[in-house]
Amino acid sequence: MKERLFRRGAHGGHGASPNGAETTPPSKFKPEPRGLTDDSASPGIIIPCGTCKEPLYVKELENNLYVCPKCGAHFRLNARQRIEYTLDAASFAEWDTTVRPTDPLGFAVGDDAYRAKLTATQLKTDETESMVTGRGAILGEPAAIAIADFSFMGATMGSVFGEKLARAAERARDARLPLLTFNASGGARMQEGLFSLMQMAKTTAAIARLGEAGLPHIAVLTDPCYGGVTASYATVADIMLAEPGARIGFAGKNLIEQIMKQRLADDVQTAEFQLAHGMVDGVVHRRDLRQTLATLLALYGTRQLDGAPITNPAHVDTREPALATAHD
Ligand SMILES: [Zn+2]
Repeated sequence: MKERLFRRGAHGGHGASPNGAETTPPSKFKPEPRGLTDDSASPGIIIPCGTCKEPLYVKELENNLYVCPKCGAHFRLNARQRIEYTLDAASFAEWDTTVRPTDPLGFAVGDDAYRAKLTATQLKTDETESMVTGRGAILGEPAAIAIADFSFMGATMGSVFGEKLARAAERARDARLPLLTFNASGGARMQEGLFSLMQMAKTTAAIARLGEAGLPHIAVLTDPCYGGVTASYATVADIMLAEPGARIGFAGKNLIEQIMKQRLADDVQTAEFQLAHGMVDGVVHRRDLRQTLATLLALYGTRQLDGAPITNPAHVDTREPALATAHD
C-alpha cells in the first residue's frame, strides 16, 4: 500500500535546514557546469563556462540548449527548463502539485531549521519540491515524466520526492504509459531521516510493479546523480541514458579515496566512464536527446498496442527451466 505521509494541504508551511552537508552538495560536487537558475543569469549577461572558462552569453547558451558552444559542457537544467527543451510544446500536464513537504522530525541544527530552509528554497526556485511529475509527449510519443530538480536542495530524495515519483509510476501503470525519469541528486534528504531513506524502497517497488505490467522505465542520468537515487530506482531502469560529462556514482570520489586510501582515475564517475564499464546504455548529447527518447518511446511504449501488455516470451518462458537445469 502506498503511504501518504504528506497529504495535500500539508502545505507549504515548512521547514528548514541543517548543517547543509547533504542539503546542498557543494562540498561534494564542485560547481562545474552550473545550471543558470540564478537571477543573475539574464540573457545579456556574460558568464564563464565552468569547464573551459570561456566567456559565454547567457542568450547564446539558451539558444544552444545550455550546452557550451566552445567545449560541449552540459550545464544543469532545472525542471522547467528540462520540460521546455525536451517535451513537445504545451504537452506537459503536471501531477500532484499539492503534495508538499512537511518537517516530520522538527529538524534543526542550532538556528538552522529545516522548515525555514524549505520555505526559502520554495520562494527562490518557485517549486514546491525537488521532484516534478506529469504527463507529456516527445515528438508525439506520450509518457509519464518525472524530473528531479537539483536546484531545489540538491534534489535530495525526501518523502515528497519519493511520493510523487511513486505516484507517477502508479499513474503510468494505470494509464499504460512508459515512465521517463530525468535524474539528479545529492543523496538522501538528511533532515527527514528514515522517512527519506525509505523512499529508495518505495520508488523501486512502484517501478517494479510498472515492469510487471509490461511497461518500460527509461532513465536519463544528469549531472550530478549520486546517493540514494543512483542506489535505487534510477539504476534499475530498462534503459539508462546519461548526458555527456554527467557525474554518476553513489558516494563522491573524494570520500571513496579517503576510505580506500587510494587515488581513483580522474574520469571515474563520469557518464563516459560508466558507459565504458556497462553502467549506462548510452551517452546522448542534449541536442539528440529528444529524438533518441522519442525513438525509444515509440519502440518500447504501448501507444500502438492499444492497451495490450508487452511481454517478452524469451524472458518469461526460458528463465526458470534454465535455472532448474543449473541446479540439477
Ligand atoms: Zn565550455
